[in-house]
Amino acid sequence: MANEKFDLAVLGGGPGGYVAAIRAAQLGLRIAIIDDNEKFGGTCLRIGCIPSKALLESSHLYEETRHHLAAHGISATGVSVDLAKLMERKTKIVDALTGGINILLKRNKVTMFVGRGVLRSPNLIEVNGANRTEVHAAKILIATGSIPASLPGVKVDGNLIGDSTTAISYESVPKRLVVIGAGYIGLELGSVWNRLGSKVTVLEAMDRILLGLDGEIAKLAHRTFVKQGIEFKTSAWVQSAEMHGSECVVQCKDSEPIKADRVLMCTGRVPNTTNLGLEQLKITVDRRGFIQVDEKFETKVTGVFAIGDCIGGAMLAHKASEEGVACVERIVTGHAHVNYDAIPAIVYTSPEIATVGKNEEQLTEAGIEFKKGVCPYGANGRARTLGDIDGRVKILAHASTDRILGVHAIGLRAGDLIAEAAVAINFGASAEDLARCCHAHPTLSEIMQEAALIVAGRSIHT
Ligand code: FAD
Repeated sequence: MANEKFDLAVLGGGPGGYVAAIRAAQLGLRIAIIDDNEKFGGTCLRIGCIPSKALLESSHLYEETRHHLAAHGISATGVSVDLAKLMERKTKIVDALTGGINILLKRNKVTMFVGRGVLRSPNLIEVNGANRTEVHAAKILIATGSIPASLPGVKVDGNLIGDSTTAISYESVPKRLVVIGAGYIGLELGSVWNRLGSKVTVLEAMDRILLGLDGEIAKLAHRTFVKQGIEFKTSAWVQSAEMHGSECVVQCKDSEPIKADRVLMCTGRVPNTTNLGLEQLKITVDRRGFIQVDEKFETKVTGVFAIGDCIGGAMLAHKASEEGVACVERIVTGHAHVNYDAIPAIVYTSPEIATVGKNEEQLTEAGIEFKKGVCPYGANGRARTLGDIDGRVKILAHASTDRILGVHAIGLRAGDLIAEAAVAINFGASAEDLARCCHAHPTLSEIMQEAALIVAGRSIHT
């Protein structure tokens, strides 16, 4: 094994790395993949997308059962949560999916190595696991992902003051939870614990939540989360968070200390690129540590590539996978690219928030004239039957060409609706193209069609 030479060695088994490895194997390359965890699937499957969505679903059902079934004439009494069981379900889902990745890798004849990898040359990764192994390859692809960012003064102890990894495994519901950072991870996990009974306070340094998201949609989301009982303090500069006895105390600039039972640090993620041997190989990183690559995802060193969270951009699983596929297809065929304008992003709160393409602020800043169509969920029959009419879909189209430039939605299953918008943007569709596509009735997808009709000023239902 140690002397076997691979065509490509992939360092990191997350959605960037494992997808790249499988695609490269399908294209006929001999592939090695290395991860420091025996459960392949990376942050996303083990401690990110999947466990957080499992918890969101369970806590949503709990919320629905307690507060929303009565409107259907269904009464439920004595509703309670068995947190251990809820966590057990989450773990089973993670195990099933990570186990599935191992099967996929084996089926595609990808050789797996478990251990911490360090680049020793452009053709050699040293792997320190149960044994020390050398993996030789013609080319190397780095997909080592990201880790939670830290904040000076906040003493993360992995327990009461923890990050998202801690927050997906609390053993009891904290009475008071302070979330530092109103990005999507903080809001998703804040929602989970709010629904399960915590008094959640979210501290955000900016004067708004969900920075980077369409401003109007973020404002609506903020209002809804407040109605759900989450407290927000914006423009709150956290200076410290530490334990005072058994209590967490968070100090923001110019304000009274906030006491809590747990603190959840969610101030973003930073590239996982230290101690990889990059400096020795003269692979350059930017000042935040993101590996610098060209349009082929090749680093400054010929034959060494990088994709996913560790190169920056949208830190999303599907973006990492897209880059992984494009990178290896380009290595083998010379073609492939990623359309960064068509990468959707979803916040899986209730309501869901979904976005793809440019938002109003970005278009205005770029001096691009646009027209918009905004359709409220209330105009949609299916939304009414589902009992949830809060939300809207907004389509932004070029003022003269009508080409769709961005779609932003908040509301029930907005995350599913956005897929159509991503396809439309990818194919360069106009709002009229979308409006002229027949959408099944009664479905929420009709909101998308109606928003497209509104762009042309010929709405039927609003
Ligand atoms: P990773 O998934 O981070 O994988 C990198 C792998 O490399 C890891 O397994 C790591 O252990 C391994 N590794 C690192 N260094 C070494 C080394 N030297 N040797 C060996 N192995 C190494 N994204 C979404 O798209 N949708 C979501 O709903 C979503 N929810 C999230 C929720 C949470 C709580 C978190 C934390 C993240 C979430 N994300 C979500 C982000 C998503 O998880 C990441 O964008 C995605 O995992 C990045 O993929 P990657 O392959 O680049 O890196």
